[in-house]
Amino acid sequence: MDKHTVTVFRGDGIGPELVEAAMKVLDCAGAPLSYEVFDVGEAEYERNGKLIPDEALASFERTRVMLKSPITTPVGKGFRSLNVTLRGKYNLYANIRPVKSIPAIETPFKNVDIVIFRENTEGLYAGVEDVISEDEVHALKIVTRPACENIIRAAFDYAVKNGRKKVTCVHKANIIKRADGMFLSIFRDIAKEYPDIEADDKIIDNTCMQLVMRPEQFDIMVMQNLYGDILSDLCSGLVGGLGVVPSSNMGADHAMFEAVHGSAPDIAGQRIANPTAFLWSACLMLDHLGEKDCADRIRNAIDQVLNEGKHLTRDLHGNAGMDEYVDAICEKL
Ligand code: ATP
Repeated sequence: MDKHTVTVFRGDGIGPELVEAAMKVLDCAGAPLSYEVFDVGEAEYERNGKLIPDEALASFERTRVMLKSPITTPVGKGFRSLNVTLRGKYNLYANIRPVKSIPAIETPFKNVDIVIFRENTEGLYAGVEDVISEDEVHALKIVTRPACENIIRAAFDYAVKNGRKKVTCVHKANIIKRADGMFLSIFRDIAKEYPDIEADDKIIDNTCMQLVMRPEQFDIMVMQNLYGDILSDLCSGLVGGLGVVPSSNMGADHAMFEAVHGSAPDIAGQRIANPTAFLWSACLMLDHLGEKDCADRIRNAIDQVLNEGKHLTRDLHGNAGMDEYVDAICEKL
């Protein structure tokens, strides 16, 4: 069988452990993949003076598919976030984050099944800041029609393709009248092209309250960059935390798959991190490559281990280390 070649960024903190875990599970599942693996991020910068080696970018430009573990951007050295740079450089405009209740994981919330579509290339992440004086700084929120259209259309197309019922636009157009107003008005225009999908909108602050009171009312949610960043973490908390939320970053030509969480330096090297979010990100990558059967096998094995509840990691109130959890998944496979 022909193998798909994918680029893997090993990253910082818990990144290397997660990559090791994912490769083990992918191998056990017989995933038809071959890897081009690169060290990137802070540790790589300290070793070789570059955050991302040129060969690593060349590989992604060739393979167009990346599994990326979390990367730390050195703070205070003037670097732009590597994540923001990669999303911008390859125009990975749609950050898609599925958040779903896991029956075996106890939380006060049931039946959460939300997919967040976060605009990934502009907004306050454009990094346009002006220091007017020692006491005044302006941060510019950039909103362009093509980027709004891309993310909103991606949300509706996903709803159609995946049999979802509703898309909610989240915004603050009552205060940020022009920038968020344009996002909302483009949303309303595009919604008309999808008469079978219910479309509504909510102000971000009300959305936060609704999410922690009645999260089951939400289906697909689409929003600008910073709102998406914040709501993703909030939604992760509804279903068991950052250890269980994967994501894809999709552009017209390239696709990058990563967990929503960061490099978790507080637990790095201890092999206690929960690799589920990263494993599910790898499954999203397999779906993208047309290997849905293989992805489903891995998802089933993970479900079985989670449901049995015997080998859960600490963030899910278990005692297992990462290796015990991964071995249990491989056993099922
Ligand atoms: P970033 O700014 O890069 O998004 P962050 O500052 O939000 O990162 P994370 O690295 O995501 O922080 O970690 C937040 C908290 O969640 C930390 O206490 C970390 O240990 C925990 N955490 C993150 N990922 C995992 C994981 N996979 N398993 C267990 N705990 C995790």
